[in-house]
Amino acid sequence: MIQMRTTGKKVSIIRNRKRQSEEVFQQLRYKLKKNNFILTEKHPDIVISIGGDGMLLSAFHKYESQLDRVRFVGVHTGHLGFYTDYLDDEIDKLVENLKYDTGAKVSYPILNVKVTFENGDTKIMRALNEATIKRSDRTMVADLTINGVHFERFRGDGITVSTPTGSTAYNKSLGGAVLHPTIEALQIAEIASLNNRVYRTLGSSIIVPKKDKIEITPSRPGFHILSVDNSTYSYRNIAHIEYQIDNHKINFVASPSHTSFWNRVKDAFIGDIDE
Ligand code: NAP
Ligand code: MN
Repeated sequence: MIQMRTTGKKVSIIRNRKRQSEEVFQQLRYKLKKNNFILTEKHPDIVISIGGDGMLLSAFHKYESQLDRVRFVGVHTGHLGFYTDYLDDEIDKLVENLKYDTGAKVSYPILNVKVTFENGDTKIMRALNEATIKRSDRTMVADLTINGVHFERFRGDGITVSTPTGSTAYNKSLGGAVLHPTIEALQIAEIASLNNRVYRTLGSSIIVPKKDKIEITPSRPGFHILSVDNSTYSYRNIAHIEYQIDNHKINFVASPSHTSFWNRVKDAFIGDIDE
């Protein structure tokens, strides 16, 4: 009877090239098969990523078109991550939890990025961490509009717009705040803004609520570099970029091992310091 419960759940495993990840992969594949899980790449119910948070970003983008039906699980080789719930020596615990999984999930907001080009073409992308617009040849000059209000003319290296779970990534390096992922908001952070008697930006990062649309309009012709998580594009003819919280969310398998967000933040940035 126990077998009935586990038969039929479709699982896809993706991993990075590290030897340690390959070993975890072999072990996990063997144990899942033994417990009657179906290993398939095409239409899985559960996607397991083995590696770091970067690997989970890749898993997210691989299954981006199936977000509503897929749930993710991250196995981190090394230490606890932000998108990962299991360490590499916890494979048995992971298999056990998946055996008794009832479909419960934890969901986080993601970012929708709509790029409009000068000829009217559009391109829509989704980000789990953030989207970054930059210029590398000269100072980027761009107008920032928040919910229809022209907010500022930005001059500097670039701007990031991040999700709550992305707030601990690039956003944090830029001095942005760490946002709990149950707060459905986007955060705008500046990258090296120019501030003097002539040019002025707010300077601090801005947290924008769910319904507000963020728009960035580059005002100086030239190549801009757009990064969406771990992918980078170079465009010469961007008219403007709109950012909003996407209608889809990323779902993670809710397991007894789902670590609290504050524990992750502490583990990653503070550690255990003796007082
Ligand atoms: P990468 O440059 O190889 O690694 C970026 C680092 O950020 C890795 O250590 C990764 O953790 C970590 N990370 C990823 N998502 C995170 C999150 N949500 N919270 C905290 N840390 C996180 O690039 P990658 O692995 O392909 O990741 C792309 C990401 O790099 C971008 O989305 C951006 O956030 C970040 N990035 C940061 C800076 C910066 O801080 N100055 C500059 C460019 C890009 P793992 O080691 O566990 O994979
Ligand atoms: Mn990591």
